[in-house]
Amino acid sequence: MIAVVKSAPLDGPEGTEIRDCPIPEPGPGEVLIRVAAAAICGTDKHIYHWDPSIRPSVTPPRIYGHEFCGFIETIGEGAARAHEGALQVGDYVSAEMHIICGECPQCRSGNGHICIRTQIYGLHEDGAFAELVKVPASNVIKLAPFVPLRVGAFLDALGNAVHTTQIIDLAGKSVAITGFGPIGAMSAAVAEHSGASLVIVTDVSDHQLETARRWAASRNFANMHAFNVRTTDPRDVKQAIDVLTDGVGVDVVCEMSGSSAAINFGLDIVRMGGTLSLLGLPAGHSVTIDDYTRNVIFKGVSMHGIIGRRMYSTWQRMLALLRSGLDVEWVVQATFDSLDDFHEGIARFDRHEALKVVFFPEGEAKAQARMK
Ligand SMILES: [Zn+2]
Ligand SMILES: [Zn+2]
Repeated sequence: MIAVVKSAPLDGPEGTEIRDCPIPEPGPGEVLIRVAAAAICGTDKHIYHWDPSIRPSVTPPRIYGHEFCGFIETIGEGAARAHEGALQVGDYVSAEMHIICGECPQCRSGNGHICIRTQIYGLHEDGAFAELVKVPASNVIKLAPFVPLRVGAFLDALGNAVHTTQIIDLAGKSVAITGFGPIGAMSAAVAEHSGASLVIVTDVSDHQLETARRWAASRNFANMHAFNVRTTDPRDVKQAIDVLTDGVGVDVVCEMSGSSAAINFGLDIVRMGGTLSLLGLPAGHSVTIDDYTRNVIFKGVSMHGIIGRRMYSTWQRMLALLRSGLDVEWVVQATFDSLDDFHEGIARFDRHEALKVVFFPEGEAKAQARMK
């Protein structure tokens, strides 16, 4: 089978080969899935460029990719599952690619998303930029045709957005999203779909903010306001937000950028007793909080670190949102009918020409024809 392999500890095309690989054999408790669609995630970009932050997690050669959907090809011994999760050959599925131990205190208290032994397929084990991928049956998520293939391709990332927004009921709330990359964009869509009264988007790229405005216009969503916090003085942006929120501040901040400036800006604009849901990773691991006394303690804010997807309540909520009409297909801005175009796909993602880049290893039409 054809797969995208991190073949050497090098940046760029020298470190990634699109090549023929053996088809994985599903062992007991595992299933083999024919990949219909797979999407590039920020993590893949780090692997491609061999960024220092990713090196401890990936040992070449490794097939990467962890956002995908597909159709079950074969089922290993004892892997068919029973009851409502029963698996059959041909089923349309995705998978949670964080593999957890089931034994640590977090796993044993319903918090498997912070398992201390988390292994990620596509980093620690082979992943989904391939014609076929092997995963534990317990991690398989059954899908239905209300999830288009183009969306099924990135449920992992959509799950990050849903997890970021699921810590608080967004109905009627004012929500600020700092950073309009792919997951910020999906969070905006979830907020609008969930009945947020106001969505404020901040970014440092006019191109991304224009995408946000086009999205809001396409939804006839008048209560979206987008601000460039690089070219506009943040004090002026704060004043505009004060006007929009009657001087109260926003109820919820979804922090997607990892930038110190954005985190501090979020603390500045959040209301007394408000909530910050923090997904973005700072480049240098550390962040300095301005006026911690006033903006954190005296404000009585709640700050939540978001990692992965809750297993499996985030998946359940995500599928319920999609079933009820959540539209995120618009974030797919580039598609390729072959993994051979991987280098070109990464280049488009690097240049911010596409929020999401999706590959169809056997072509979109052929994959679509497998949908029952
Ligand atoms: Zn990812
Ligand atoms: Zn565990």
